Order: sequence, then structure tokens, then C-alpha cells
Amino acid sequence: MNEKPQAKENILAIINRHKHLNRIIAVAGGAAGLILVAVIIAVIVLNIPQESLPTNAVYDDGGKLTGILGEPTVCVDPGHGYDDPGADSELLGEDTAEREINFDVALRVRDILEFYGVKVVMTHDTNVPDDSIPQNGDGKHVIDPIWRADFTNALSPDLFVSLHCDSFPGDRSVKGTRIYYMSSAKGGKEAARVAGFCAGEIEKTFEGEVKLRNMTSSEAYYVIKHITAPSVLIEMGFITNESDASNMLSEEWRQKMAESVAAGIVNSLLKY
Ligand SMILES: [Zn+2]
Repeated sequence: MNEKPQAKENILAIINRHKHLNRIIAVAGGAAGLILVAVIIAVIVLNIPQESLPTNAVYDDGGKLTGILGEPTVCVDPGHGYDDPGADSELLGEDTAEREINFDVALRVRDILEFYGVKVVMTHDTNVPDDSIPQNGDGKHVIDPIWRADFTNALSPDLFVSLHCDSFPGDRSVKGTRIYYMSSAKGGKEAARVAGFCAGEIEKTFEGEVKLRNMTSSEAYYVIKHITAPSVLIEMGFITNESDASNMLSEEWRQKMAESVAAGIVNSLLKY
């Protein structure tokens, strides 16, 4: 997990969206530093539409996005954890429940975001409890949604992204990713934007439809409703569906999902 993420396709997709800048840099050629400054000044003077250039992006000489200025903070929340395995299905085998998938993808998202200079805080970066982790009446270490919301609100991150897997034993044909947000919540407008970016990246990567769900106040998940930062909850797939479950057990799928989510987050952090 300590390995720096490679320049993966999804991340390249972000970069390709900034072809406009890439072209400018290509023209600037070798003496990139000074010329780039001149080009940026020229761009400002020429009043090129602002949406073509993120004001907080850092690029290398080849025009690849390498960082985001201002160290934005993202809270990544692996759903469940510790003694709470989350949903389970025989399709995942004996050693894996929802907890393991959420946690693994979350660590991958963290690593990619950190590569771009994003400060990542996780609600938990281990599943081995210590004294700070609350215990329920049965002595089980469980962090409930209230704990997660209080933890996150105390940090005031720029975004909160919770990762889960869905389960629907009643109809095993139900599959795919769903992203939840609440546009009427505090930060809800931005949450809708983040949800849209993540959905777009996941759809591109897996060539399938992602369902976006704007929740009402009465139906919204606790973390979506009570976290003051823009909050999205991603149900990455259905552990009760054969092909989703098989995907979730694969390293490749987890990495691709993490790259897509991270790309969506990075996109939404770029300011124009
Ligand atoms: Zn869950």
C-alpha cells in the first residue's frame, strides 16, 4: 500500500481534460518555467475563458496534473469496520465481507489523493480497535454514523466520501454503483457536483450506468444529512449479485474503482 500509484488511465483522463493547457505547455517547450509563467500571464491578459484553466492545479513540464494547491482536505470513510463487518454474502467467500472491500478501496483512494497533494483524513485507517473506539453493549467495537459525523465535523474537511457495498438478496440481478447525496443539505450543491464527477468517472471506467440518488431530508443517510461538509456515499456495487461480487473480490476492480472515485474527487477539487 505504500507504493505510489502509477499514472493510471483514469487519472490520465483528468489530465486529458486539460489538453488546452497541455498544448500551451507543448508550445512553450523546454524552457518551461519562465515561459509557462509568461503564458499564464498572457492567458489572463487575453481573457481566455476561465473554465479552461484550473487556478489551483499544478502541472509538470509535460502538462500532467501533479498536484492541487492549498492542500484541500478530504475525509474518506470506509463504511463499517472493526467488529462491524457490514453486509455479507456467500458470494464473497468466508474471509470477506463488505468491511474488507470498503476498507481496501478506501486505502487505495487515500493513496491516490495523497499523490496529488490532497490531505486525506480517514474515519479509521485500521480495523484493529484501540481504547478510543467506542464499544457497544456487547463489547463490540463499532463506530456508528453519529461518531463518524462528529469526527468529520470536528475536522471541517472540504469533502466527505463514504464507501460502501450494497446488498439486495431479494433480487440478485440488481447490480451496479449508486451514489447518494442530499442537495438540500449544507454543502449539498457541492455534494451533487462531486457525485456527478464520481459517477462520470465510474461510468467511463466500467462502461455502465451509475445511479445518482438525491435524497430527501427524511430518507437521507445520517452522515449525508449531518455532516456539514459536502457529503457523498458511494455504494460501489451489490455483493448479492454474482458479477459484482466477483469483481469486488478482484484487486484490479478495486484499483479501478479507487482510481475512478479519486479522479472524481480530484476533478471536483479543481477550481476555475
Ligand atoms: Zn454499508
